[in-house]
Amino acid sequence: MSSFDAYCELQGMLEGHIFCDEPMVRHTSFRVGGPADLFIECASVRDLNFSLDVIARHQLPWAVVGKGSNLLVSDEGFRGAVLVLGAQFKSFSLPDLTCSQNKLVAGGGVQLSTLVQAAFKNGLSGFEFAVGIPGTLGGAVFMNAGSSDVWIGSIVESLTVLRPGEGLVRYQGSELPWGYRCSGLPAGEVIVECVLRVTPGHVGMIRAGMEASLTRRKKTQPLTTPNAGSIFRNPEGDSAGRIIEGLGLKGYTHGGAQVSEVHANFIVNTGNATASDVVAIIMHIRRRVREEHGIELRPEIRFIGFET
Ligand SMILES: Cc1cc2nc3c(=O)[nH]c(=O)nc-3n(C[C@H](O)[C@H](O)[C@H](O)COP(=O)(O)OP(=O)(O)OC[C@H]3O[C@@H](n4cnc5c(N)ncnc54)[C@H](O)[C@@H]3O)c2cc1C
Repeated sequence: MSSFDAYCELQGMLEGHIFCDEPMVRHTSFRVGGPADLFIECASVRDLNFSLDVIARHQLPWAVVGKGSNLLVSDEGFRGAVLVLGAQFKSFSLPDLTCSQNKLVAGGGVQLSTLVQAAFKNGLSGFEFAVGIPGTLGGAVFMNAGSSDVWIGSIVESLTVLRPGEGLVRYQGSELPWGYRCSGLPAGEVIVECVLRVTPGHVGMIRAGMEASLTRRKKTQPLTTPNAGSIFRNPEGDSAGRIIEGLGLKGYTHGGAQVSEVHANFIVNTGNATASDVVAIIMHIRRRVREEHGIELRPEIRFIGFET
């Protein structure tokens, strides 16, 4: 069984699109990564279900990807299928405040920035912390994205996933063991829709909250060079960026990748970085931190195509 057999079976059967050998450099904020054997843009739950069935039958590895803003894809790419959420997953509906209904319903493929702006324009508070976090709602919920003190998990009322082979399953937000950059969702489930709690707020106050988040972000993050956000999880009671900076590693370079001068827990692509360059820096940092502090830094970013 091969990706090509799966491609032949999927071709012409989807409302969305399917591509062979799709360069993942186009789908990651790092702007690195080799080709995925199959790249399937699922336009609907039906597409997603059908694709996952075919993938299972052909025993292909697969991964769901949002905006690729927390991902490193290997230079060799991925010998499997990458699934992204298309049209049906990109819509959302605002709460009907006339009946005190404070729930915003959004597809897993909606960009977080779209929700932040829609909430602001409609005087809804709850998303201020997310201003400037790139990515989709599905990716943000899976990663429990947020700042140091507010996570998206805290406003998730419920979410619907597609569990391969079983269909749509709903979780209450309160059932999940939300933690630091972790939703606790089992691997292999695709978030298709979320119900989020928002509260009516004063537009001026919401704007002030957003501006505060954005100002902090502009000061502390390299926003003009391709990167994938924080590389490492903060170790208990400390900050990975502080530790790495303390070792004098800001500006440390390997090929086209560099430890950001702005924030030491970011690696930036200075123009022609490869995934191998990024991995070399990750390994160097981990070794130095282990030797100097006895701390094992754990990656926050997710890896695709490094399985072998
Ligand atoms: C400049 C910059 C700043 C950032 N700042 C922050 C920050 O302040 N706080 C923060 O938390 N993060 C931050 N990030 C990291 C990243 O933006 C978030 O983790 C984001 O939520 C990832 O969303 P995505 O759609 O890009 O997911 P991807 O990177 O595509 O995927 C991340 C993970 O989520 C999984 N996933 C994606 N979609 C789904 C789905 N529908 N169902 C199930 N699993 C899914 C993927 O399989 C993968 O394991 C930053 C990144 C950048 C580049």
